[in-house]
Amino acid sequence: MKCVICQHGYTEKGFTTVTLERNESVLVFKQVPADICDNCGEVYLDSAINQALLSQAENELQRGVFLEMVNFTAPKVGAEMPLL
Ligand SMILES: [Zn+2]
Repeated sequence: MKCVICQHGYTEKGFTTVTLERNESVLVFKQVPADICDNCGEVYLDSAINQALLSQAENELQRGVFLEMVNFTAPKVGAEMPLL
Protein backbone atom coordinates (compact mmCIF):
# COMPACT_ATOMS: atom_id res chain seq x y z
CA MET A 1 0.00 0.00 0.00
CA LYS A 2 1.03 3.62 -0.37
CA CYS A 3 2.56 5.19 2.71
CA VAL A 4 0.19 7.67 4.38
CA ILE A 5 3.00 9.44 6.20
CA CYS A 6 5.29 10.55 3.38
CA GLN A 7 2.82 9.89 0.53
CA HIS A 8 5.67 8.86 -1.74
CA GLY A 9 6.88 5.46 -0.67
CA TYR A 10 5.21 2.09 -0.79
CA THR A 11 5.21 -0.43 2.02
CA GLU A 12 7.00 -3.74 1.73
CA LYS A 13 6.76 -6.85 3.89
CA GLY A 14 9.55 -7.07 6.39
CA PHE A 15 10.42 -7.42 10.04
CA THR A 16 10.88 -4.81 12.69
CA THR A 17 11.73 -4.49 16.36
CA VAL A 18 9.01 -3.15 18.64
CA THR A 19 9.73 -1.72 22.08
CA LEU A 20 6.93 -1.54 24.61
CA GLU A 21 7.30 0.28 27.90
CA ARG A 22 5.03 0.10 30.87
CA ASN A 23 5.94 1.59 34.23
CA GLU A 24 9.46 0.32 34.84
CA SER A 25 9.27 -2.61 32.46
CA VAL A 26 10.68 -2.57 28.97
CA LEU A 27 9.94 -5.31 26.47
CA VAL A 28 11.80 -5.55 23.21
CA PHE A 29 10.12 -7.72 20.60
CA LYS A 30 12.30 -8.86 17.76
CA GLN A 31 11.30 -10.22 14.38
CA VAL A 32 7.85 -8.68 14.35
CA PRO A 33 6.29 -8.94 10.87
CA ALA A 34 5.37 -5.51 9.55
CA ASP A 35 4.82 -3.45 6.44
CA ILE A 36 7.64 -0.96 6.13
CA CYS A 37 7.74 2.12 3.91
CA ASP A 38 10.59 1.95 1.41
CA ASN A 39 10.91 5.73 1.47
CA CYS A 40 10.57 7.04 5.04
CA GLY A 41 10.79 3.80 7.01
CA GLU A 42 7.40 4.16 8.69
CA VAL A 43 6.29 0.85 10.16
CA TYR A 44 2.73 -0.45 9.87
CA LEU A 45 1.60 -3.30 12.09
CA ASP A 46 -1.29 -5.51 11.11
CA SER A 47 -4.07 -5.40 13.72
CA ALA A 48 -3.80 -9.17 14.32
CA ILE A 49 -0.05 -8.77 14.88
CA ASN A 50 -0.70 -5.85 17.19
CA GLN A 51 -3.15 -7.91 19.23
CA ALA A 52 -0.75 -10.83 19.48
CA LEU A 53 2.01 -8.46 20.51
CA LEU A 54 -0.04 -6.95 23.31
CA SER A 55 -1.21 -10.28 24.69
CA GLN A 56 2.34 -11.65 24.60
CA ALA A 57 3.50 -8.47 26.36
CA GLU A 58 0.85 -9.00 29.02
CA ASN A 59 2.16 -12.52 29.69
CA GLU A 60 5.72 -11.28 30.00
CA LEU A 61 4.75 -8.42 32.30
CA GLN A 62 2.87 -10.79 34.58
CA ARG A 63 6.13 -12.66 35.08
CA GLY A 64 7.48 -9.40 36.50
CA VAL A 65 10.24 -8.73 33.99
CA PHE A 66 12.05 -5.41 33.89
CA LEU A 67 13.95 -5.69 30.67
CA GLU A 68 13.35 -8.55 28.32
CA MET A 69 14.18 -9.39 24.74
CA VAL A 70 11.37 -11.43 23.31
CA ASN A 71 11.26 -13.32 20.07
CA PHE A 72 7.84 -12.55 18.75
CA THR A 73 5.79 -15.58 17.84
CA ALA A 74 3.53 -14.55 15.02
CA PRO A 75 0.02 -15.91 14.76
CA LYS A 76 -0.04 -18.58 12.07
CA VAL A 77 -1.04 -17.16 8.72
CA GLY A 78 -4.33 -18.60 7.59
CA ALA A 79 -5.16 -20.02 11.01
CA GLU A 80 -8.25 -18.81 12.79
CA MET A 81 -7.51 -16.17 15.37
CA PRO A 82 -9.01 -17.10 18.73
CA LEU A 83 -11.68 -14.67 19.81
CA LEU A 84 -10.58 -12.79 22.87
ZN1 LIG B 1 6.68 6.68 3.90
